[in-house]
Amino acid sequence: MADYDLAIIGGGLNGVSVARDAAGRGLRVILFEQGDLGAGASSATPRLVHGDLAVLERRGFQRVHRQLAEREKWLKIAPHLVRPMRFAIPAHAAERPLALLRSGLWLYDHLASRTRLPAAETVDVTHHPLGDALKRPFGTAFEYSDCVVDDSRLVVTLALDAAARGATICTGARCVRADRGEFWRLVVIDRGHRKVIMSRALANTTGAWAAAVAEIVLREPAPKLAAVQVSQIVVRRLFQPDNVYVFQNGDGRLIFASPYERDCTLIGTVTHGFKGDPAIVAMSAADIAYLCGAANRYFREQLYPTDVLRAVSGANLAPLRDGDRPVRDGGMMFHHRRGKAPLLTMFGGDVTTSRLRAERAVSELTPFYPMTPRWTATAPLPGGDFDWEQFDDEVERARERWRFLTEPEAQRLVRAYGTRLSVVLGEAKSRADLGASFGPELTETEVRYLMAREWARFPEDILWRRTKLGLSMPAEGQKALAAFMATCG
Ligand SMILES: Cc1cc2nc3c(=O)[nH]c(=O)nc-3n(C[C@H](O)[C@H](O)[C@H](O)COP(=O)(O)OP(=O)(O)OC[C@H]3O[C@@H](n4cnc5c(N)ncnc54)[C@H](O)[C@@H]3O)c2cc1C
Repeated sequence: MADYDLAIIGGGLNGVSVARDAAGRGLRVILFEQGDLGAGASSATPRLVHGDLAVLERRGFQRVHRQLAEREKWLKIAPHLVRPMRFAIPAHAAERPLALLRSGLWLYDHLASRTRLPAAETVDVTHHPLGDALKRPFGTAFEYSDCVVDDSRLVVTLALDAAARGATICTGARCVRADRGEFWRLVVIDRGHRKVIMSRALANTTGAWAAAVAEIVLREPAPKLAAVQVSQIVVRRLFQPDNVYVFQNGDGRLIFASPYERDCTLIGTVTHGFKGDPAIVAMSAADIAYLCGAANRYFREQLYPTDVLRAVSGANLAPLRDGDRPVRDGGMMFHHRRGKAPLLTMFGGDVTTSRLRAERAVSELTPFYPMTPRWTATAPLPGGDFDWEQFDDEVERARERWRFLTEPEAQRLVRAYGTRLSVVLGEAKSRADLGASFGPELTETEVRYLMAREWARFPEDILWRRTKLGLSMPAEGQKALAAFMATCG
């Protein structure tokens, strides 16, 4: 008799999405993540929920249509984590002709199911705040609607939902062996303890590790795919408007510069082949210089590699198209044969279509178990039970209930926890009720909540994934946080 219907190895975006979907369909699910949730590629995405314009340019109409339909769903189910924004493409005389950009964005708008997001328009940036940060020759820009997302909080929030629907989520739990028979027998080192479980099916969602896990842990044929590295840089805030800029680089690629937390800008991406240990994905000096150069073609303020506050890199497997271009849809393989428990392998793909990928993957298991129908397209994620257009009202409500919160603090907290903020702050009446402070914004109450309810174990988990307060927290705050967390362990 198996303990679980589905065991999942890997707690990145793909793993937690599968866990959420399957738990909500009534399967008994367990997920093992060797480190922290989202610590791999899933916290190093470009943080966009969008239809890929580069794909549109290559006539991938169906794919863009699918992405835009998913964008609408995300806005409804995760209005705290997914934020609509206006994206601006400054017209560059040496790049794509204006007519091509205009017609491309018209098509983009029409591929989306008609929504409340405003349509594309042409902007004269010479007298518009959008132009303030740009170099002088830019006269025209095209503005259109898309969304940005907090990728690592999305991973944790999906895991929260999976757990609320009955999934067991184990972090710090490395699967070291899995034997396939009528059931899967998994051996896991769970925070130092050896644990054996039996499962009716297995999902390998270990991203860049997937081939090695298949070969060494599962002893199954490994997917023959290249690993690809995606990198971005974080610099101090380069522009004031709350927009994402999309730059056409000289090599034809589109580079995004988006507001990152309160005071920074995220610039990316640069992509190329990766070899080595996916746990150590470092960005090269050449890649940093490439992104600085791309931004310097457009922004007045010139960037130098020394201005980079943080480099964000992740690796994943990707099928290659035309020999060298990674396919961003990701991949899925399903394998079963008589007398052998099913094996699902999933890797890569963008954030935008991750819900749909998981839904399709779990649906592969329908011949094996009775399951309730697909459900994830409409069910709000924890904290997301409000309309995205009411976000400011939610912030206002939070400030009325916890009167000691400043506007920026309330914005950050509602963005992170949505309506679950009441679980975090509870009945606190004053700042003193929140206990010790670590740096200007993080309090003991929030840390305790993150450790008790969101699987945070180490300072990194809080400073860089549950929040991004690592960007602003002074060294003494970080030290005090580490000491506090060690005593809570
Ligand atoms: C070329 C490329 C371009 C991309 N472009 C975009 C883009 O434009 N937009 C976008 O949104 N996304 C993009 N991404 C997607 C994003 O980077 C990830 O692919 C996505 O978040 C899915 O990640 P994952 O869950 O497969 O892997 P990961 O997040 O890496 O998760 C795998 C997890 O498995 C765990 N693990 C490994 N071995 C074990 C073990 N033995 N036991 C337990 N746990 C284990 C790891 O610790 C890790 O946390 C791109 C990816 C690629 C490859």
